Amino acid sequence: MENKLEKIVSLCKRRGFVFPGSEIYGGLRGTWDYGPLGSELKHNLKDAWWDFMVRQRENVVGVQAAIMMNPKVWEASGHTESFTDPLVECKICHSRIRADQEEEIKDHEQTHKGENPPVGGKWTEPKRFNLLVEAKLGVVEGEKSTVYLRGEITQGVHVNFKNVLDSTRVKVPFGIAQIGKAFRNEITPGNFTYRSREFEQMELQYYIQPDEKVSDETFEYWKQERMNWYLGLGLKKEKTRFRQHEKDERAHYARDAWDIEYETPFGWKECEGIHNRGDWDLRRHSEFSGTDLSYLDQETGERYIPWVIETSGGVDRALLFFLLNAYEEDGGRVVLKLHPKLAPYKAAVFPLVANKPELVDKARQIFRDLKGTGLNVAWDDRGNIGKRYYSQDEIGTPYCITVDYQTLEDGTVTVRDRDTMKQERVKLLELTEILKEKVGQ
Ligand code: ATP
Repeated sequence: MENKLEKIVSLCKRRGFVFPGSEIYGGLRGTWDYGPLGSELKHNLKDAWWDFMVRQRENVVGVQAAIMMNPKVWEASGHTESFTDPLVECKICHSRIRADQEEEIKDHEQTHKGENPPVGGKWTEPKRFNLLVEAKLGVVEGEKSTVYLRGEITQGVHVNFKNVLDSTRVKVPFGIAQIGKAFRNEITPGNFTYRSREFEQMELQYYIQPDEKVSDETFEYWKQERMNWYLGLGLKKEKTRFRQHEKDERAHYARDAWDIEYETPFGWKECEGIHNRGDWDLRRHSEFSGTDLSYLDQETGERYIPWVIETSGGVDRALLFFLLNAYEEDGGRVVLKLHPKLAPYKAAVFPLVANKPELVDKARQIFRDLKGTGLNVAWDDRGNIGKRYYSQDEIGTPYCITVDYQTLEDGTVTVRDRDTMKQERVKLLELTEILKEKVGQ
């Protein structure tokens, strides 16, 4: 479908999923604000991740580290030195573009075509550009110190390795999970939220014995787990794939790296990376901080610096890919076929007409009762039922419940399914249980 990305951008704005950041002031490039529905969707996405990665497991715990960290952290992690992208500048208009983004370079050259003589392709030599975002901290002018807003959430976990070991009962192999914001001075933010300057990551750092065989097996295990998570929430199999990084493409710490990619209207794009970080992080933080971050295996008496298998996904990217994946135009309606776990509302409740108090009262009561059971449900009494269905389809609400005259007589309501558009009559007494079963809550 052409222009699918533009359709998603416009739907997101119109229905309150995502707005451009600071819009009334003309925006701030590379920033986005989540509206009422986007916030719900984002919460659901993060909850689904946290549940799958942390709560369902015995050997994974979570942390929430500070966004601003001691600058030494970034020296130790290698970011001050090598968290860079190659940048080229157009000699004609001085726009700056990432030298490894061939499509953008080509697009840019096209915009200069038609000029005489043709001027496309005149670029400066690539320069390295550091992506860390600086902030000034302190209360005395002139004595403020420079800190970085974290460029990845990873380091907040590694610097707490010892704290977690000392305060919990975890034993290698175990994982520490985190969800949180990261900031990068991206040279070319774009494709909606796909590449932003402020974004959220969801990561697992999984500590293992320093052993090739163990690390290969663990790597394979998490690769499959992560793919299963995306597919389980509805990403289409034929639009999802693994891709191994070439040696020269890997980050400075990575022994092996694979991406989970999704086929977007702008090509196959990274959604999440699975990396074998070896002992890079704990070894460097031990060296730079002077704190011993080795691990003592109580059973064997062996002391070692664990290796790390990391799964690092973007919340905003995953959200965008789930939206692209869910978007369909079907017989004149727009429908977001979101997995019920992700859908902002699990159901919507309608009185058949808005001007019959007995119907409205009954519907209101059902609406409140459902909310009371923990189901996030919407209310709508505007326009006719058909319009309300379309309005809910467009935001991905899986079920619509209509209260009509028969409800008052026999205590049943109609439940209409977003995907099949079929309706069934359900007893009010069974409604909550049926809905919870349908949406897996
Ligand atoms: P890219 O090559 O696209 O710049 P990356 O390989 O640098 O990404 P990582 O450092 O591995 O990305 O970060 C892990 C995840 O964080 C990515 O898979 C992506 O989902 C997310 N992410 C990274 N940078 C951004 C960004 N600028 N905007 C939104 N999400 C991002």
